[in-house]
Amino acid sequence: MSLSGKTAVITGSTSGIGLGIARALAGAGADVVLNSFTDGDDDHALAQEIAAECNVTARYIQADMSKGDECRALIERAGRCDILVNNAGIQHVAPVDEFPVGKWDAIIAINLSSAFHTTAAALPLMRKAGWGRIINIASAHGLRASPFKSAYVAAKHGVLGLTKTVGLETAKEPVTVNAICPGYVHTPLVDAQIPDTMKQYGMGRDEVIEKVILERQPSKEFVTVDELGGLALFLCSDAAAQMTASAISVDGGWTAM
Ligand code: NAD
Repeated sequence: MSLSGKTAVITGSTSGIGLGIARALAGAGADVVLNSFTDGDDDHALAQEIAAECNVTARYIQADMSKGDECRALIERAGRCDILVNNAGIQHVAPVDEFPVGKWDAIIAINLSSAFHTTAAALPLMRKAGWGRIINIASAHGLRASPFKSAYVAAKHGVLGLTKTVGLETAKEPVTVNAICPGYVHTPLVDAQIPDTMKQYGMGRDEVIEKVILERQPSKEFVTVDELGGLALFLCSDAAAQMTASAISVDGGWTAM
């Protein structure tokens, strides 16, 4: 399939799942806009690397997804947005009565509210182009809860609510809105929560991976970023034109249990 002529904006795409999806879309010929909240040489170099590898235009635009005005400015600066991947996300692990208020606010802002702002800014551009795809990266935690992840679970359930609502609002248009619900993918986000999880469960690192993380996934394997990139490509294809307002699980069987 070719995405030549399309521009994809992927929020939070300097590592992990967002970067994997950016590479997959660029590999199919889409021009890509990478994003994060930092503004280092590495960020811009990453975009140049993808441009050279895939022979597409790739840009890095700094914008903090915890701030509504910066979310909207990202889309405005991109200038075109045929494919929007709302991927930026953070996590924090703590019991609800000890959950830092600042962490709660940041998780809701970055994981949920950013998708509201970018969607609102991108839809008029998609309507103008006569085609659009919105892909929200939710989580198995959008369908199931886990102890000590109140803000993340609440935000990801909210992402599914937003996906269904915007999918219905655009159902008669050539725009689709879907959510991907990955199980565990071994990215910096998962690595960062291991020390707190070790504390909460009183376990060592390997035990946390085996008995808390992979225990939930019947496949007993991490999902890979390439698998999620492949699904994003499918959602951009004509074969998925009638697929909207859906939540698609890629979780080794977790949420079927
Ligand atoms: P990651 O930490 O590797 O990547 C997160 C990206 O978001 C990074 O590029 C980071 O710089 C960026 N980011 C963080 N705060 C930001 C901000 N304020 N503004 C802009 N960008 C910001 O994490 P990941 O595991 O690749 O997660 C990506 C998405 O996938 C998240 O929404 C996460 O909730 C979701 N997810 C991850 C897993 C998993 O197991 N890794 C499972 C399900 C869902």
